Amino acid sequence: MNSILIKNGLLVLEDETLEADLYIEAEKIAQIGKNLQFKADKIIDAKGKIIFPGGIDAHTHMDLPAGNFSASDSFESGTKAALWGGTTTIIDFANQKKGHTLKEAFDHWQNLAKDKSYCDYAFHVSVTDVNEQTLKEIDDMFSEGVTSFKTFMAYAAMKITDSDLEKIMTKVKEKGGLVTLHAEIGSMIEEKTAELISQGKLEAKNHPLSHPEDAEVLAVRNFIKLVEKTNCPGYVVHTSTPRSVEEAKGKEHLPLWYETCPQYLERDESLYNGPFEIAAKAVMSPPLRHKNAQEPLWKHLLENKIHVVATDHCPFTLEQRKRGKDNFTLIPNGGPGVEDRFELIYNGAVVQRKMSLIQFSKINSTNAAKLFGLYPQKGVLKVGSDADIVIINPQQKWKRTVKEQHMNCDYNLYEGLEGQGKCETIIMRGELAIENNQFHLKTAKGKYLKRTNPITKL
Ligand SMILES: [Zn+2]
Repeated sequence: MNSILIKNGLLVLEDETLEADLYIEAEKIAQIGKNLQFKADKIIDAKGKIIFPGGIDAHTHMDLPAGNFSASDSFESGTKAALWGGTTTIIDFANQKKGHTLKEAFDHWQNLAKDKSYCDYAFHVSVTDVNEQTLKEIDDMFSEGVTSFKTFMAYAAMKITDSDLEKIMTKVKEKGGLVTLHAEIGSMIEEKTAELISQGKLEAKNHPLSHPEDAEVLAVRNFIKLVEKTNCPGYVVHTSTPRSVEEAKGKEHLPLWYETCPQYLERDESLYNGPFEIAAKAVMSPPLRHKNAQEPLWKHLLENKIHVVATDHCPFTLEQRKRGKDNFTLIPNGGPGVEDRFELIYNGAVVQRKMSLIQFSKINSTNAAKLFGLYPQKGVLKVGSDADIVIINPQQKWKRTVKEQHMNCDYNLYEGLEGQGKCETIIMRGELAIENNQFHLKTAKGKYLKRTNPITKL
């Protein structure tokens, strides 16, 4: 099937919504307008439906190794689930191992995704070993279409010093890219963890105590100083507390952006008080915070102080989590979410809090496309852009449940949560991927996306 004509839907364009038709040919959006008359291979009547650019999840970890096993979603299962949930592009991570090169990491992750991914994909490269060679290699990564680099202030295997972070930011600024940060001060986590262990506090419920909110807030404070000093565009991943966002108060002139995730908006730390089977499923870093943090986070999203909602999708089954049954530090960190993000955020932002469709489309897609160098190929309904399209039925209600999910995980973090606005029809680069609750793609045709430098005007 080469051409598709979508009639009578409400199109969410970059700066306006428009009741009109959209015509797709040869993987691209070929025409947008009223009463389009094309002889298409397929015509979709979208009366009463809303049409968005495909979702972009800028933070996933398919196939992430965690000791003797990996995250339960591979690129294959995870990208299928992404499509079911209205996400047509993921940006995953190629993680450098200390003592290895960036190129080795990049090649390794390319191999994992190649011919396995059902949606398009790109990689941030995580820099964990900073030396002259690594800094030179950043040039090579730009040639490969990598324009964003992830850094960590925490985790022994990943963390770098502030002075190394500054070196990376200086280099990446020169090249016109962007640096993202896992903002948690590692030494604070290590101290808290050692203290809990010495007191014999080993149950899963102690996990959040080992990752105090201050560790995140202080890391963000350090990062902002470095953004100020280097003027390198900076992006804070998985912001869990509104206090991190408030650190940027009065510094709106800085090239600084925030990402949060559905789990910090819709789940809270009370889960850790449950039995292991419940508490362990919520073990992630940063951890879930107090319920009081949720509404201020939503407020920051509505006020454009948080710019992107991604998932940090990194599922582990309960069986895998049992590794830490007697010691919470051994529970693999992460959670499922790639399939939930679009509908959860549409419901929470648009249905419940009256966010405009245009702003929702930005936090769901356009802003990530711009910051990570995919715009206007991705993230927008525009003539010439890739035909990644999500048609939602705004009236359709849903209830999250593991029984209906496609993510390869034995639980859904939002089990029982109800909402409205269902991703019904998904078109992946011009090809019908999902319609009438059926998956139509026969093979994994997702492509690696070479990215350009970020557009920092959102
Ligand atoms: Zn992550």
